[in-house]
Amino acid sequence: MVNIENIKQLAIDKGCEVKENEPMSRYTTFKIGGAAQLLVSVPNISALKAILKLCDKEQIPVFLLGKGSNLLVSDKGIEGVVIKLEGDFKQITLVEDDTVYCGAGVSLARLCRFALDNGLSGLEFAWGIPGSAGGAAYMNAGAYGGEMKDVLISCNHVTKSGEFGTLSGDELKLSYRHSAYAENGSIITGISVRLHKDSKAEINRRMDDYMQRRKDKQPLEYPSAGSVFKRPEGYFAGALIQDSGLKGAAVGGAMVSPKHAGFIINTGGARCGDVLSLIEHIKKTVNDKFGVELECEVKPVGIL
Ligand SMILES: Cc1cc2nc3c(=O)[nH]c(=O)nc-3n(C[C@H](O)[C@H](O)[C@H](O)COP(=O)(O)OP(=O)(O)OC[C@H]3O[C@@H](n4cnc5c(N)ncnc54)[C@H](O)[C@@H]3O)c2cc1C
Repeated sequence: MVNIENIKQLAIDKGCEVKENEPMSRYTTFKIGGAAQLLVSVPNISALKAILKLCDKEQIPVFLLGKGSNLLVSDKGIEGVVIKLEGDFKQITLVEDDTVYCGAGVSLARLCRFALDNGLSGLEFAWGIPGSAGGAAYMNAGAYGGEMKDVLISCNHVTKSGEFGTLSGDELKLSYRHSAYAENGSIITGISVRLHKDSKAEINRRMDDYMQRRKDKQPLEYPSAGSVFKRPEGYFAGALIQDSGLKGAAVGGAMVSPKHAGFIINTGGARCGDVLSLIEHIKKTVNDKFGVELECEVKPVGIL
């Protein structure tokens, strides 16, 4: 493990909450993951810049935790510093009639409700995605024909070396479940989205419709990280897995959901190793049967 004493002291001096050896299973929707060496809840930009600068100088690995809804964290945990955005990063502001600035630590659920309350349409697709605004921008999250790319104007960020910056338009490199932030390692601090006026009743109706579809199709009663695989060109991952006869296939506490084959669920006490073994089994079976290479959407994190 790396020496995190200086970072810990700086974080405390900057008003952060710090926890050592904190189990990540408490912070992931999969309820899986060993301990983070140091979990730091950061309240503002100045603290974030200072911590990133020192981590960069001391070569301490940094991982940014959103809502943990797309993560598969190693049973051996995460070395270095795990950062969580709190305080100022949880604010939402209506900056113009149709434009919202949202701190990266805000949940998508809160952002969607804010849009609804202001009669602003464009984020209905995101209702039910259990991520943060920052995580949604990082992943270019999407559903039901919509994606963050449709509404995202710009992201503010702090670079690995602690400098503040902004990316907008094409600089964001938004494509299917991908953004520039997956390449540059900067931490998104806030996002600007452009929406459009619509009747609250209509926005609400669409949100209810999408939520109902999720409840009907997805195993929301179990811990998971959503769809495990990206959609392969010309196919649906769930259909390929189902047609490979893998519904209900299990390793330890990890199981291919009998309700939606694109999901792996934690039926109780699943370990990261169980999920990884099941992923390998699914990939091999689907490849043998259909010649399609499945690629993970869920992000494996931590000590191998
Ligand atoms: C039941 C369920 C349903 C889901 N449905 C969908 C769906 O319909 N569509 C969809 O696209 N996804 C879906 N997901 C997956 C997930 O919710 C999204 O990928 C979401 O955008 C992840 O956000 P997060 O805040 O949880 O990020 P995390 O899982 O915490 O992190 C994911 C990645 O983003 C990075 N990251 C997070 N925040 C920041 C930041 N501020 N700055 C820089 N990097 C950051 C992390 O470092 C990590 O690499 C679903 C998940 C579940 C459990």
